[in-house]
Amino acid sequence: MRYISTRGLTPPLSFKDAVMMGLASDGGLLLPETIPTLSQDEIAALSDLPYPELAFKIIARFVSDIPETTLKSLIDQSYASFNHKEVTPVVKQDGTYILELFHGPTLAFKDIALQLLGNLFSYLLAERGETMNILGATSGDTGSAAIAGVRGKENINIFILHPHQRVSPIQELQMTTVTDPNVFNLAIRGTFDDGQRIVKEVFGDLDFKKEFSLGAINSINWARVLAQIVYYFFAYAQVKRQTGCDSIYFSVPTGNFGDIFAGYLAKRMGLPIRKLILATNENNILSRFVRDGDYSVGSVVETLSPSMDIQVASNFERYLYYLYEGNSMKVREALEGFQESGSLSFSAAERAKVHEDFVAAAANRQETITTIRDMYQKTGYILDPHTAVGVHVGRNLAKSDAPLVCLATAHPAKFGDAVHDAIATTPPQPESLHGIEMREKRCELIDADTEKIKKYIKQHAY
Ligand SMILES: *Cc1c(COP(=O)(O)O)cnc(C)c1O
Repeated sequence: MRYISTRGLTPPLSFKDAVMMGLASDGGLLLPETIPTLSQDEIAALSDLPYPELAFKIIARFVSDIPETTLKSLIDQSYASFNHKEVTPVVKQDGTYILELFHGPTLAFKDIALQLLGNLFSYLLAERGETMNILGATSGDTGSAAIAGVRGKENINIFILHPHQRVSPIQELQMTTVTDPNVFNLAIRGTFDDGQRIVKEVFGDLDFKKEFSLGAINSINWARVLAQIVYYFFAYAQVKRQTGCDSIYFSVPTGNFGDIFAGYLAKRMGLPIRKLILATNENNILSRFVRDGDYSVGSVVETLSPSMDIQVASNFERYLYYLYEGNSMKVREALEGFQESGSLSFSAAERAKVHEDFVAAAANRQETITTIRDMYQKTGYILDPHTAVGVHVGRNLAKSDAPLVCLATAHPAKFGDAVHDAIATTPPQPESLHGIEMREKRCELIDADTEKIKKYIKQHAY
């Protein structure tokens, strides 16, 4: 399997090179040259497999340059760190299936991709005799999941910038209590936007980037999307076993179009998904796109589901490539137009094509709170606010012709304040958080100044 860029100006790459490249050299995003398809019999044959074995069967279809036994052991290692034996269990609550994606080390679904990406980086760097210094800015979830993915690994350092005292206490502790010598937490005196700007500026210094082999961890790496395809197949198998259904709805709370894009690929591979239900909070550019063909940037508003407070969805370009039927020139033109005007428009035929796969809506603050409260009162089950957005929208849009599976993207204890507002109860803490505030911490407070950050990296990098 080879990988090509959405913008069409990068020569085809192997899987290993695609993982190491991250963002394509022409500025586009990498995609497999073809999407492998599975027959319904092949899909049925996957249905009794434990998660890591299913993951191997799916992922191996996209990887032809890593020996099977090695790939298998990288995958096994990645999911051994989860604290549930089924890795991503499906539970039924009040008639809705909840796919719990939050049993990884940092209690959010990003662990599913970043545990695997960390192991892939480590294996590829060792094989190539290279080192890497990962640099990223986080508003909370991605940073801790990325740190958990590479902590203690050889040949790799990670520098994560977070805005000092502007991430939730749990998110901060999940980062700063990782004291492995290859992890560098930098609390900047500034905002998340400052952090993103600094990271951009550091990557923009190409000599510096080369000298220190800077690597990125944002959601554009193909391996992250790939790892996320697996749980759509896993959930389908669980629900089919329970209901005998022939197809299902998936409702996906979305910000960057990453998670739901993995579902789109699962559908293209042959998984019988009735519709993908795209759920946003008040930052609704993606739901406006699906409903009305209106992809125009608004300003970011703060919500109860901060990991979806995004206006420009980095993975959207991958979907555009398929919507434009692989016409990369059209992708380039569209993106140039978007850069200039902040909006994209779509033909009636394109909109009809979108509706073959997606329906969408947004949930506001009150709807999110009501959904958490209703579910708790009926069942005692606690939804996190991101998951609640998906449950609200999913229940409104799924018809009764197939079961509904809602993706639960974070453990409620991670967003305890919002949950407390809804149900006046604090969610029980999972074991991994017990005593976290007592643990040793390692974090450097530093000015939001690109030169100072570069100096720090220089002093501590490989
Ligand atoms: C990152 C994140 C999301 C959004 O995921 P996308 O891939 O951007 O769609 C949703 N919920 C939580 C808890 C997250 O951390």
